[in-house]
Amino acid sequence: MRLSQILYSQGFGTRRLCNGLIYNDEVKVNGEVVDDPDAEFDPKGFVFEVSGKTWPFYEKALILLNKPSGYECSQKPKHHPSVMSLLPGPLRERNVQPVGRLDEDTTGLLLLTDDGSLIHKLTSPKHHVPKVYEARCKHPLTDEQVQRLLDGVELREPDAPAHYKPEPARAEGAERVDEHLLRLTLIEGKYHQVKRMVAAVGNRVEALHRPQFGALTIPADLPPGGWIWIADPAQISH
Ligand code: URA
Repeated sequence: MRLSQILYSQGFGTRRLCNGLIYNDEVKVNGEVVDDPDAEFDPKGFVFEVSGKTWPFYEKALILLNKPSGYECSQKPKHHPSVMSLLPGPLRERNVQPVGRLDEDTTGLLLLTDDGSLIHKLTSPKHHVPKVYEARCKHPLTDEQVQRLLDGVELREPDAPAHYKPEPARAEGAERVDEHLLRLTLIEGKYHQVKRMVAAVGNRVEALHRPQFGALTIPADLPPGGWIWIADPAQISH
């Protein structure tokens, strides 16, 4: 594995940042500075030191967390504790990051991993990983609202220039479970997407839960705040 790839997989930042660390002589392998990002190593056989700190190589962590309300997905939370605080020290040390974000008041299935390329794959709409949401809505849901969500609605991007015409946000699946409960399947993960889509059709989300990510669902015996290892990312697509 190339040295820049090894650092990237361990959460040291973008490939550019990792290359920067290497070019700045901040990376040692078995006590020796290595300044070539393309130098190949079997990561399990070496001790890495980055910016003076020893960094043992770990296999990729993939965690399924049953996120409770009242936690932020940010690593620098502003008003509530971070979801990372629900994980034990060794996992936090591995620098796992949420795969996309759930709002502070959204509950349900949140994946965390230290595999940057997996995060990209699972969040990019190109890879078509469905995420299922259950939205409790303030007003009774109408057939027209459900149909509009399936057809696609325009979401205003707050910082976009006035002439910017975004692609409509479209639900892959939308069904009314009961008068107020909407089950929505999305491929994308835009900021507040479910809440904004529901608002765009004239309703309002009062509570949001994600029971499913790809093929993964929350185990029945996993309480809010609990987490489990996912042994193989392939489980997400099967
Ligand atoms: N869409 C939202 O509006 N909020 C979430 O937390 C996830 C998807």
